[in-house]
Amino acid sequence: MFRIKDVSQRIISNYLNSGITSDTSVETARKITVLNLFAFVGFSITFVLGIRASFHEGLTLASALFGAFFLFLSSHLYLRFSSSHRAYKTGSLLLQSVLIVLCLYLVYSGGTNQTGPLWIYLVPPVVMFFSGFRRGLITIALFVTAYAIIVFAPFDFLHPVTYSYEFKTRLLYSFLTLTFLASFYEYSRQSSFQRLNELTIELEQQARLDPLTHLLNRRGMRERIEQEFIRQQRNKTGLSFLLIDVDHFKRVNDSYGHETGDTVLMALSLFLTASIRKQDAVARWGGEEFLLLLPDTSLTQAASLAEKIRAQLEDYPIRHDQHSLHITLSIGVAEMEENDRPDDAINRADKRLYLAKQQGRNRVVATA
Ligand code: GH3
Ligand code: MG
Ligand code: MG
Repeated sequence: MFRIKDVSQRIISNYLNSGITSDTSVETARKITVLNLFAFVGFSITFVLGIRASFHEGLTLASALFGAFFLFLSSHLYLRFSSSHRAYKTGSLLLQSVLIVLCLYLVYSGGTNQTGPLWIYLVPPVVMFFSGFRRGLITIALFVTAYAIIVFAPFDFLHPVTYSYEFKTRLLYSFLTLTFLASFYEYSRQSSFQRLNELTIELEQQARLDPLTHLLNRRGMRERIEQEFIRQQRNKTGLSFLLIDVDHFKRVNDSYGHETGDTVLMALSLFLTASIRKQDAVARWGGEEFLLLLPDTSLTQAASLAEKIRAQLEDYPIRHDQHSLHITLSIGVAEMEENDRPDDAINRADKRLYLAKQQGRNRVVATA
């Protein structure tokens, strides 16, 4: 019993997801599923009505319905077997075109006992869903024009069946009402979807940044390091790190308060950002600890930048409120060596930072 359920679930899911590949976006994947579902509804209904029409209505209507059956089925088969990345677009265009042409034909011919026009209500939701708000409106405007020509034109050959004036106009009004609702729904859906996308991008960016200093956080820096590491492996250029720690930062907090401490960290972040080149990166690696990533930089060059940063900060106090705060830094420097992973170099920089602290702080250590 369970097996039948499993197998049928697999068949349904296989059918609905055909055309979705690993690089299909979530939005397109959702549309592909609906396209497959709609193609199924389309070819099933046209097939059943086609058989019925061939017994009761004559060959013309039956041929139209079987033609639509074949084309609805093709829109699914095209998605399933085409390797083109535009398969969804072509498939959905085919499906919409078949629906539109079939509906216009049913209006023109009257279908079974003049009930054919009732199917036009399928057009607004389907077209809006697949074409989106703007293109959907244009398509529906063209459809309405074609409908009006067929039912209101003064030429007899355009309307072999005669609908009452009330029927033609009421059908048009209710069709326009449905179009308005469907387009309003699609417009709100698109706006929410766009807002959601923007929010996702914003959140992803925020997840890589430190909220206080707006520098990269550990996660953001790890990604940058990984990118630079790959580049460095390819180009065989130097790659160095500076690990910077504020000396006796606890005293700043203790003497002036945590808020002043925060301001110092922000000022320091601006200072470090201003001290590096475009291709470098700076991150808040811990509480009052910063990591600088310096591509194409040798140990000697990195050490001299570290010394410049240390000396400048020693000479220029950070001002906050009425206070003038003299901050000093201890810096450990390391360069990536052969067969190093980035963490090996960062650990060496950390050991050197520890040595700088041991040797009395306010200094740069680049060896040992
Ligand atoms: P050392 O020279 O050995 O580095 O001494 P230190 O006082 O800087 O080091 P310690 O690790 O003892 O203290 C670090 C301090 O940094 C303690 C902590 O309250 C402070 N700190 C960490 N993050 C923040 C922050 O976001 N804002 C503020 N105001 N202080 C912070
Ligand atoms: Mg410290
Ligand atoms: Mg520290």
